[in-house]
Amino acid sequence: MAEVVVSNFINGSFVPTSSYIPSFDPSTGKVWAKIPDSGQDEINMAVSAAQTAFKTWSVKPAEERSKVLMKIADLLESRLAEIAELESRDQGKPVWLAKAVDIPRAVYNFRVFATSILHDTNRSSVMDAVGAVNYTVRDPVGVAGLISPWNLPLYLLTFKIAPAIATGNTVVAKPSEMTSVSAWKLCEIFNEAGVPPGVINLVFGVGPKAGEALVVHPDVPLISFTGGTVTAKRLRTSAAPFCKKLSLELGGKNPAVIFADADMDKCIPTTIRSSFVNQGEICLCTSRIYVERPAYQTFLKKFIEETKKLKVGNPKEDSSFMGALISKEHLEKVKGYVKIGVEEGATISCGEGVDTLDLPAGIKDGYFMRPTVITDLKENSRLLKEEIFGPVTCVVPFDTEEEAIMKANDVQYGLAATVWTQDVSRLHRVSRKIQVGTVWANCWLVRDLNMPFGGMKDSGIGREGCVESMDFYTEQKTICIKL
Ligand code: NDP
Repeated sequence: MAEVVVSNFINGSFVPTSSYIPSFDPSTGKVWAKIPDSGQDEINMAVSAAQTAFKTWSVKPAEERSKVLMKIADLLESRLAEIAELESRDQGKPVWLAKAVDIPRAVYNFRVFATSILHDTNRSSVMDAVGAVNYTVRDPVGVAGLISPWNLPLYLLTFKIAPAIATGNTVVAKPSEMTSVSAWKLCEIFNEAGVPPGVINLVFGVGPKAGEALVVHPDVPLISFTGGTVTAKRLRTSAAPFCKKLSLELGGKNPAVIFADADMDKCIPTTIRSSFVNQGEICLCTSRIYVERPAYQTFLKKFIEETKKLKVGNPKEDSSFMGALISKEHLEKVKGYVKIGVEEGATISCGEGVDTLDLPAGIKDGYFMRPTVITDLKENSRLLKEEIFGPVTCVVPFDTEEEAIMKANDVQYGLAATVWTQDVSRLHRVSRKIQVGTVWANCWLVRDLNMPFGGMKDSGIGREGCVESMDFYTEQKTICIKL
């Protein structure tokens, strides 16, 4: 396959740039695409196009905007296989996973917001004593700056674009430079669906250059960011002088709390999936597993046995449960945490450094590693505190409910947790006490977009990728009329 050359998508046209950066296929370690190395100039062009388009898009009736979003969804669905393959090439994940999760969810994002805007109602309140009536109206904010990461490229990009344009904003999006090709393909669909020029603009490039230029652009009043906590702290500082609306969806260090009475036939396969699917590169992945002591040894034995069976291999093959990690640097970082574990005296129960990984010719230079289970960790091990964001999970025993809750909460993050027990009262009690935005009880990753989604503590500010996020993409005004 010839090298793919990505161009920016500004004002409905594909615009070439003067300089490019390479994009690597994680499964081969070879360059497969060239990505624009955009900066201030490209961001300025895109913001200007988005500002012009805002004048007409923001006043279109919701019904008309809805039709455009529905068309995007239909077209994306009709090209699901093609786009899933590109996303796998971009990111390293198995094609089957992109086909089963990422792209269907991207389609769903457009459909949910296309229909939600049709059923939105305003609030009103009558003040009998003074003889006045109040009602609210919601208006779009303006040009939305959207910054998304590489782990679920289209899933996360579209869960920002869809609510932003559904509510009448126009957007300038900067996807991660490592996963730009699938996002660029999406632009063809935007044109085919009849999105007016300038309503959606995509500018490709690296975060500190193109991303930063978007964050500090004075005509972008709203920034929605999904990525790491360290980047988010920097971004908050850069955006502060402009008083922008900010939504931050950040990292996690998600615990699974497993009581001895859990249905292990359901708990073990789900916890394997929650730890290792997408190479463990989902912000919601489990990375600390706390098991009640009477069940600890049985759980661990079965968990390790089943983890060892997971196939790591060519993302194109349906039999590969895991593909490649995103980059060489990230692979080194994740393996580095396993080394830290060894230095701290922990046991590597399976995976990295313990089990062999035989890769066929063609993908030998890819960024693969085996799913890794670590036990016997020190109470304050870095592996139990820091986000690893790879296929590494730690298993730790506990004795009491209070201890489990204390351990689950003993991190700076607060994104998600799972709780496993058949005791309904305990399920409610423990779920309530864990400091995270989402608790999945006896399940994982079951998402209802009608419910809020986001993090507590260092895992973020705001709620996104849910119907409630339409509040973020609009300004609400109260009008009070004296009768
Ligand atoms: P990063 O924070 O490195 O990057 C996220 C995005 O920000 C990328 O597009 C990146 O561009 C851009 N960026 C980097 N530096 C700047 C800057 N100075 N100004 C503006 N933009 C910038 O995260 P990753 O891409 O590594 O993604 C992984 C992280 O995302 C993990 O911590 C994960 O937990 C989190 N995440 C959170 C989710 C949630 O919903 N809470 C969901 C998914 C992931 P580029 O990559 O091109 O440099």
